[in-house]
Amino acid sequence: MNNIRLRFPPSPTGKFHIGSARTALFSYLYARKMGGTFVLRLEDTDQSRSTKEFEENIMEGMEWLGLNWDEGPIPGTNKYKGDFAPYRQIERFREGLYQPYIDKLFKEDRAYYCYCTPEELEEEKKAQAEKKEAPKYTGKCRECSKEKIEQYEKEGRSKVVRLRLNPEIIKYKDIIKGDIEFDMALYGDPVIVRSDGMPLYNFVVVVDDLTMKITHVIRGEDHISNTPIQIAIYKALGAGVPEFGHLPLTLTPDKKKMSKRFGDISIDKYKKEGYLKEALINFAALLGWSSGTEQEIYSKEELEKVFSLARVQKSNAIFDVERLNWLNGVWIRKLSLDRITAECIPYLKEAKLINDDFDRIYVEKVISLVKERLKILSEVIDLTAYFFKDLVLNPEKLVFRKSTIETTKQGLEDVIILFEDTPMSKWPLNVDEMNNLMNEAKNMHNLSNGDVFWPVRYALSFSEASPSPAELLTVLPKEVSLKRLKAALKSLS
Ligand code: GLU
Repeated sequence: MNNIRLRFPPSPTGKFHIGSARTALFSYLYARKMGGTFVLRLEDTDQSRSTKEFEENIMEGMEWLGLNWDEGPIPGTNKYKGDFAPYRQIERFREGLYQPYIDKLFKEDRAYYCYCTPEELEEEKKAQAEKKEAPKYTGKCRECSKEKIEQYEKEGRSKVVRLRLNPEIIKYKDIIKGDIEFDMALYGDPVIVRSDGMPLYNFVVVVDDLTMKITHVIRGEDHISNTPIQIAIYKALGAGVPEFGHLPLTLTPDKKKMSKRFGDISIDKYKKEGYLKEALINFAALLGWSSGTEQEIYSKEELEKVFSLARVQKSNAIFDVERLNWLNGVWIRKLSLDRITAECIPYLKEAKLINDDFDRIYVEKVISLVKERLKILSEVIDLTAYFFKDLVLNPEKLVFRKSTIETTKQGLEDVIILFEDTPMSKWPLNVDEMNNLMNEAKNMHNLSNGDVFWPVRYALSFSEASPSPAELLTVLPKEVSLKRLKAALKSLS
């Protein structure tokens, strides 16, 4: 491993959703491509909103997608892997890891206490609004006299720590967005430590990225306005600045912002509904990245080789669920029958179509018949239910529109005779032989396809849109097929 280090630092204040997965994926892919290190750090300083459940949800989602981190928390334990533990900010705070950096800023006069009350700050804002100025902290406490400070302390006022910003132009070259500059005169001195002593995001993220030797910060565009403040903090600490890259926003099709609290799109929900991790990775990669070729289908392993930050687009990415469904179908057809069967089994079990001692070979045959039509794994329930139990037979549907009840009955009768005559040792015949047999039945009384193939299909599958009757016959046990054909025949008399 070289010294290229990227991190994914989610706040465990919501479930792992597709937007976060995309951010994690891009950092992961770049780390893998460059032979670097991928770090997971939990930014849980907002203790009122962070929960263990969300932490677990994020880590489970990442593990499921295969976004394996080289350093960070070890799930299910309180332990960490990596040289820069702990990888939870609240623990880093409790261990006093941020304090030396705060002290350094004070020592170099780049930090100061601010005693302004919320009411005073509100008044400032109002006055600025009246003058049609953009709201910003005026820097009232910047040059507070000793006496004033003593007075505030005596009054028992609470205080925050602010960073003293220089009124400079901060420029940087964003890996994705290109040259960016900010006029810091437009920013008020930011709070870096709250009155209860808890340091805030912009400060802790810098200290952590610095101490964890992060070289590339890849994150969502919504963080771009934080970047100049973070660069100012790096500079105030006398530290080198990492490379920054801001990923385009992912918008809903109606161009609305997606958010973590958009519960509908959490990764666990997609998993539950029957999306494959391969499809989600492929989909997330295309949310803002393209190879510049026609290729659209990518495995994670392939992406690890071809991904480049230079090919991340600047403009917003649109979250198109149709594309995700299409990709899922493509991946279902691409993966081995064994794997898709394994993926389908939980759905069949949940729907009580199979129990624990199910026949794996039979299930695999069933899946092989419907694999082409599956777009989302949960659809396997409706597509295959009749392979596991009888459904409701509607006699009217047995009769093809150009057939009559009489010809349909004849067709079923002839098929039953031929099937019964076929010795068990020869069953199941292959698809061609089954078709031959049904053609033979057709010829016995000069019937049409609609008199034979149509009712056989419906009798066996209780559906007009199923695999062909010959395919059904090769998979369904002979006695089940015969029982259903006889029941169909009976229903017409
Ligand atoms: N904890 C921040 C978030 O979840 C991380 C932002 C960053 O990458 O700096 O949005």
